[in-house]
Amino acid sequence: MALLVFDFDGTLVDSNGLKARAFVEAADFLSGAAAAVARVRATPAAGDRYATIAAIAAALGRPDAAGEIARRYDDRVRAAILTKLADGWADAFLAAVGRAGHRACVNSATPEAALADILTRAGLDRRLAAHLGGFGRKTKNLRAILAAAGVDTAVVIGDGADDAESARACGCRLIAVDDRDNALFARPPAAALAWIEDRLRTEPPGATDAFV
Ligand SMILES: [Mg+2]
Repeated sequence: MALLVFDFDGTLVDSNGLKARAFVEAADFLSGAAAAVARVRATPAAGDRYATIAAIAAALGRPDAAGEIARRYDDRVRAAILTKLADGWADAFLAAVGRAGHRACVNSATPEAALADILTRAGLDRRLAAHLGGFGRKTKNLRAILAAAGVDTAVVIGDGADDAESARACGCRLIAVDDRDNALFARPPAAALAWIEDRLRTEPPGATDAFV
């Protein structure tokens, strides 16, 4: 029995690639979109998707277009992620997590409103004890999840440096995944849960996996 705190993108859904592409698609009604997106995304992230989009609009000399790009981005990402989630993997996996007696939460850098919208539309919210979003808030969110659950520690499962940092800051175990060879969603749902439980059994509490 564990409190499992999952990242969303690249962890519960194979969405990192589609989100990266969506910036270009959302801005492609302006010339030079691909180059501007590449330039902006090559610099350290300044904030959430809306900060990134504002930087892209500014790089294109069209700061007035940020709202339109954001609407197009939100629409594309929501549709593409819901299409991915329609394969049922995340629902079956989280159902298996619940049946095994674990509590599952989602802690994502996606803005809370967009995260809640997708989780609700996909029917995943009913599988989760909590879900919290927001850029740069993973440690804060994890603290809130621990407090609400009334526990001292949890197991963080994610593919990003921010996931690792939240686990370190809160003294939580980290299970690192990626969206390639070590992807959770590359395994059948039951096998993905078995893989996590095997890690919990065979590695000492407090162990932190290195990112590859
Ligand atoms: Mg991620």
